[in-house]
Amino acid sequence: MKTLFANWKMNPQSEPEAVKLARAEDLKNAVIIPPFPFLGPVKKILKQAPLGAQNVFYEEKGAYTGEVSPAMLKKLGVRYVIIGHSERRRLGEDDAMIAKKVSAATAAGLIVILCVGEPAGIYKKGNRATELFIRKQLRFLKNKKNLIVAYEPIWAIGTGKNAHPEDAARVAQLIKSIISVPVLYGGSTNSKNAKSFLEKKEISGLLVGGASLDAKEFLRMIKIAERF
Ligand code: PEP
Repeated sequence: MKTLFANWKMNPQSEPEAVKLARAEDLKNAVIIPPFPFLGPVKKILKQAPLGAQNVFYEEKGAYTGEVSPAMLKKLGVRYVIIGHSERRRLGEDDAMIAKKVSAATAAGLIVILCVGEPAGIYKKGNRATELFIRKQLRFLKNKKNLIVAYEPIWAIGTGKNAHPEDAARVAQLIKSIISVPVLYGGSTNSKNAKSFLEKKEISGLLVGGASLDAKEFLRMIKIAERF
């Protein structure tokens, strides 16, 4: 059974909506990843799905306004954390910061979903350029403990343009050859294309953005993931 990771991003807009969505998506092959303020209330109602967070800081405590430590997440019952999502890289997170976050979070016992993926300009240059780009993003990794990598081509996130499943499987295999961890695909997945990714042996699950906000659509995807 493969797993779907529901990255709600900065949605929904209220706690009652978040709790309602979490109740609908609370299945054992789903991981629910709400915004920080909803982690506690969502955790309270989850019976099957583990909880994830969308970001974490690398220090344990101190004068870091606006940041949240790995231990704080652990205390809330968070098991997974996304690090290096392209939407955070776009806000200024670089590989050096991402490396520090990965090592602090994994050391604290959180399972990290490290996001990598090439921008459109690199994709257009071809497979070799994409390969070099991904290799560079993974260069800092030393330890595979508590690590999952999500391959998310930036041009495919929230655009309705998904990668070719063969390309996603090839990049997943490349990632596995660099560090042998489970690899997810993310980028405009939905119930129509989920099977084409999930049937690839190199792909262990999907990181789902937009479609995870629609409980009915997400449940259709969950049913497909159960078959693999
Ligand atoms: C994501 O944000 O990780 C993502 C894959 O989004 P979407 O499914 O909306 O493309």
